[in-house]
Amino acid sequence: MTDPRILKLKPGDTIGILGGGQLGRMLALAAARLGLKCHVFSPDPDSPAFDVVQNATCAEYADVEALELFAADVDVITYEFENVPSSAAMILAARRPVLPDRSILETTQDRLAEKDFVTRLGIGTARYADVTSAQGLRAAVATIGLPAVLKTRRFGYDGKGQAIIRDGADLDAVWDDLATRAAILEAFVPFEREISVIAARGADGQVVCFDVTENEHRHHILKTSRAPAAISDALAAQARGIAETIARALDYIGVLAVELFVVPGADGPTLLVNEIAPRVHNSGHWTLDGASISQFEQHVRAIAGWPLANPVRHGDVTMTNLIGDDINDYERWLTIPGASVHLYGKRDAQAGRKMGHVTEVTAPRRK
Ligand code: AMP
Repeated sequence: MTDPRILKLKPGDTIGILGGGQLGRMLALAAARLGLKCHVFSPDPDSPAFDVVQNATCAEYADVEALELFAADVDVITYEFENVPSSAAMILAARRPVLPDRSILETTQDRLAEKDFVTRLGIGTARYADVTSAQGLRAAVATIGLPAVLKTRRFGYDGKGQAIIRDGADLDAVWDDLATRAAILEAFVPFEREISVIAARGADGQVVCFDVTENEHRHHILKTSRAPAAISDALAAQARGIAETIARALDYIGVLAVELFVVPGADGPTLLVNEIAPRVHNSGHWTLDGASISQFEQHVRAIAGWPLANPVRHGDVTMTNLIGDDINDYERWLTIPGASVHLYGKRDAQAGRKMGHVTEVTAPRRK
């Protein structure tokens, strides 16, 4: 099989995308602009990515025959979510290059493995402890202190599978509510802001980062991203350096996002890594309208073996997520001068569901 390091797609070739959400949809749109086709594999018949591609497979990730047919139809395979079952990734990787490499999923699907990996690189994280029982939780609380955040090791996103523990909490009840046997307890970080770095690494090892983004969450879900983040140039360089170190250590090919906390300190702010997402990321959506190249095109270029671009930002950029009922406002957004509106075509506006986003670009602030 072709070594991913020498793989080079040609216009007209096909990228296989695992997962059919809005990230897959925007990846497919970016690929189309570069003359590449996409085949989306997703178990959900209502996948937003199905709307924009000609080739789609609606099947479970355990459906070996469907996976084999999918692999036979594509030239390279990528994914738009990190919880790709390892059995599916293994079957596909035996047939086609899977980028980023499937071994990366093992690190990033598990919060404990991910934190251990980041710590081994000498990069800071919140203090953390492995928890496998109510008794273990009591011991971890004694070590880490309160407040703290208890998180399931796997399958957590947008604040799901998490509980903040404060003084006086009933630890047995908190443990029972999380309904897991594999969790980590993290010290609660008194951050002054949350930022992220969207980085791309090409097959040749070149790493290119977008400008650092500042993120605000509402009910644990990303609401607003602003680029550039309101941090010093030195701290931004440090954040990009962390993302680059992680991308190199993972021997990564494609776009990845590193979420960080900025923590105030007597000697100036410091950075702690919160999470690594081995994929394009919501906090990089601003790049679609706010930069000369989007995170989606950059990912496509990386996995196609094409040159990465050095992104140029068009100004100060704000990206607002349309979450749940926010979508009812789309007509108002359509009338706002300068607003670029992206709707994902989802019918059911459940609370907390990402339905679309809007980007606004203004002239750069003077320093
Ligand atoms: P996560 O799913 O780990 O990205 O967490 C979602 C959000 O919860 C983060 O973006 C933070 O706003 C908050 N959060 C997560 N972990 C911590 C922590 N250890 N201390 C403070 N806030 C946290």
